[in-house]
Amino acid sequence: MRARLVTVFFAGFALGLVFLAVLLRQTGMLRTSKASAAPAASLESQEPREQPQRPDTHRASRSTRPLDPPAEVPHAATETPTDRRLAERRLIIPVRGVQAEQLREDFNEIRGGHRHEAIDIMAPRGTPVLAADEGAVVKLFLSKPGGLTVYQFDGSQTYCYYYAHLDSYAPGLKEGALLQKGDVLGYVGSTGNASPNAPHLHFAIFQLGPEQHWWQGTPIDPYGFLARSQGR
Ligand SMILES: [Zn+2]
Repeated sequence: MRARLVTVFFAGFALGLVFLAVLLRQTGMLRTSKASAAPAASLESQEPREQPQRPDTHRASRSTRPLDPPAEVPHAATETPTDRRLAERRLIIPVRGVQAEQLREDFNEIRGGHRHEAIDIMAPRGTPVLAADEGAVVKLFLSKPGGLTVYQFDGSQTYCYYYAHLDSYAPGLKEGALLQKGDVLGYVGSTGNASPNAPHLHFAIFQLGPEQHWWQGTPIDPYGFLARSQGR
């Protein structure tokens, strides 16, 4: 009888552990984000997206985004507080001379087996690439798919802006440099896996995690934030 009680006790304990693990996983406590740092696809090759120096491999999930509180403005019903804060930053289109009408929504396109999670802005090689927002250059990184890339944080270190396939950096560009909105940070090119016949800027935005790692974040579709901007 006693042995049986002990067995039942331990079985219950083990069941509790399993339940706790499932609960943690479902509430997202075990989930971390992963920045989709790199371009791919029709314009770019079939190479897997670059994942520079990641200390973990958990995938980001849009479902971790907070739900929107009831909104008074009808169109805001699908916006999150994050979206609103980003909208308030009034990003500019990060390629000189490109107008909002020229932008294409390709964030959700599947490229080489994964979601693009960025916007490709077509422009002739050598067109100046502009800082979409004010903020410091955090990393200059040469990656196989992305080629010459720039990672920039906004001033509040909430968002990371990622610029890829640059032909070259602006002269003197350094990590730590504070860019003003509209500053030239480089030039459109096709470094990395972009087709040489289709130079473009691959531009991505990530909401940074608490650790503020430049390589980690939750991807945000830049299209809506750029489409309301005036081109420069
Ligand atoms: Zn791209």
